[in-house]
Amino acid sequence: MQTPLPDTPTRHDQHGRYPRAETVEDFRHNLEAIQARIDAACARAGRDRGSVRLLPVSKTIDEAHIRLAYQAGCRLLGENKVQEAHHKWEAMQDLHDLQWSVIGHLQTNKAKLVARFASEFQALDSLRLAETLDRRLQLEGRSLDVYVQVNTSGEDSKFGLAPADVPAFLQALPQFGSLRVRGLMTLALFSAEAERVRRCFIELRQLRDRLRQQAPADITLDELSMGMSGDFEIAIEEGATVVRVGQAIFGARTVPDSHYWPG
Ligand SMILES: *Cc1c(COP(=O)(O)O)cnc(C)c1O
Repeated sequence: MQTPLPDTPTRHDQHGRYPRAETVEDFRHNLEAIQARIDAACARAGRDRGSVRLLPVSKTIDEAHIRLAYQAGCRLLGENKVQEAHHKWEAMQDLHDLQWSVIGHLQTNKAKLVARFASEFQALDSLRLAETLDRRLQLEGRSLDVYVQVNTSGEDSKFGLAPADVPAFLQALPQFGSLRVRGLMTLALFSAEAERVRRCFIELRQLRDRLRQQAPADITLDELSMGMSGDFEIAIEEGATVVRVGQAIFGARTVPDSHYWPG
């Protein structure tokens, strides 16, 4: 008998309506509230509270507000576009322990930027990109944590590998010695129907579990990056180890999502 799925709703009805955080106090408050929701989701799922990392996503947010978030404790920030991330990295060199995670699709001709400054890249989806990144990282004398992006929603507009293509892709990655493969990343269907959203997360977890049995020995696939402001609690119930949360920390963005997400 199958146990019924939890009925945690999405919060996509809040999309675009989160108030802007304007003070360090606002950021502290938002971060604490998200952490409390992460803890509650872990408790529901019988998971260790320390097993989920919150990645605040600062795309479109200006430097002044990012500095407030830093004061509130943020040390690793996610950015969808590499040029935007690189500008921010350059502007905030004085914050020595602030690190950047690039979480959006990357064109091969911009790989050298990522190799220069990012500490993590979550949208690896082609061998050509892996090869270019690896070469550039060697030139910089750096290595990079990477996540393979998987298209679990089946939408043409979404980036990422089809689940069926991931096993062969992973087999080819150990040759790129500067890439440390940490796990898989996905963007779920953007839908108010929680059950359809949940299916995307389940698919990523089940894919990871199958891959673990056949992945090359030096690839452990511990991490599942899935869930954002509107659906991270569902993602945690299904095994997320990284949740990427923007609006619920920084407030609604003024730039439309179509600027970052195709289709
Ligand atoms: C913007 C973005 C997020 C965060 O979305 P929010 O709705 O602001 O929480 C997560 N993942 C990716 C890839 C993004 O581009």
